[in-house]
Amino acid sequence: MLQLAQGMSRLGTESAFEVLARANALAAAGKSIINLGIGQPDFKTPAHIVDAACKALKDGHHGYTPANGLPIVREAVAADLKKRHGVTVDPAQVVVVPGGKVTMFFAVLMFGEPGAEIIYPNPGFPIYESVIKFTGATAVPLPLLEKNGFGFSADDLLSRITDKTRLIIINSPANPTGAVTEDEEMRKLVKGLEKFPNVCVMSDEIYSEILYEGRKHLSLLTFESMRDRTIMLDGWSKTYAMTGWRMGYAVWPGKLAELATRLAINCHSCVNASAQFAGLAALTGPKDDVAKMCKAFDERRKFVVKALNDLPGVSCVDALGAFYVFPNIKGTGMTSKQVEEGLLNDVGIATIAGTSFGAHGEGYLRVSYANSLENIAESMSRMGQWLQAKGVKAA
Ligand code: PLP
Repeated sequence: MLQLAQGMSRLGTESAFEVLARANALAAAGKSIINLGIGQPDFKTPAHIVDAACKALKDGHHGYTPANGLPIVREAVAADLKKRHGVTVDPAQVVVVPGGKVTMFFAVLMFGEPGAEIIYPNPGFPIYESVIKFTGATAVPLPLLEKNGFGFSADDLLSRITDKTRLIIINSPANPTGAVTEDEEMRKLVKGLEKFPNVCVMSDEIYSEILYEGRKHLSLLTFESMRDRTIMLDGWSKTYAMTGWRMGYAVWPGKLAELATRLAINCHSCVNASAQFAGLAALTGPKDDVAKMCKAFDERRKFVVKALNDLPGVSCVDALGAFYVFPNIKGTGMTSKQVEEGLLNDVGIATIAGTSFGAHGEGYLRVSYANSLENIAESMSRMGQWLQAKGVKAA
């Protein structure tokens, strides 16, 4: 019998990929499927970005690049952060990686080991909990509650810090809820963290450009007192509809940039050269497509929140960021998993059970509205019929 490392039995997964595979298989078998499961923009990458990658290939950029990313890309990241968040970042602190996920893997590997505690949002992006457990560290959930619009409470978070806490993970705008942390709560957290100078924070800001109703993003990088212990995760996947290009980056504090680069050398060596040129074009080129995508997401968001609230047994709080909503389905009398499976198998609607984002997601469903208004409208109508057929009555 093969003797696998113990960590492998603790490694979780991201159900969105499993649901996507099931949905694709059902579609291949001829079933009409609408995918509200996977978290990726339904738009194509803007043309000037694709052109930049093609040009890079034609120009002969076929070799390895520096492990932390091309200097010109890291400089463009620093310039973009200056423009967006008003912060000055040394390009030497930027490490370009194949997708935002790699930053979280590296950050958790750096701090996680048996005896260490890492605080993470629950419901939250499933890979946080998975990797924390993989390292043998104790995963300390920070429950995010519907009554607070799924935002975190700084006091609640601070109360979970012990002398074993090494890393805190925060995420705003958030997956799976679309919640945006209130500036006040962020300031309170930063103030409270003054008492815990040895605790590092990984701030997952991958949805920072997808915000609605005039909300502005407040990056953790803007807090001077946190600069020597903030890992700011961001990337190209969501903002520029580039999920398949695998382009992400983080700003790492102090020596951690060198350690992240060392992990990169041990893992993937460097990011695909032509993808980096695409990333460069995204940061330095026109932003009209980004604005267009956000406008389309906003229309769908308003539509889907209302449509979900009109369904029997379902209620949905508004969400001010990302492209997810997290409706409460407790009134259906079914579990999250039962609703996920029933919707996919019976009426061809792919969604993700709230429990795929942690135990505190029971009673909820993640709905990604990165799909056309027409498809969203059709899926809401199928959902309504399905709920009626199940005998679910309006409250
Ligand atoms: N962080 C959050 C909160 C996400 O939702 C995702 C992707 O869904 C990522 C990070 C990873 O992004 P990438 O596809 O760039 O690895």
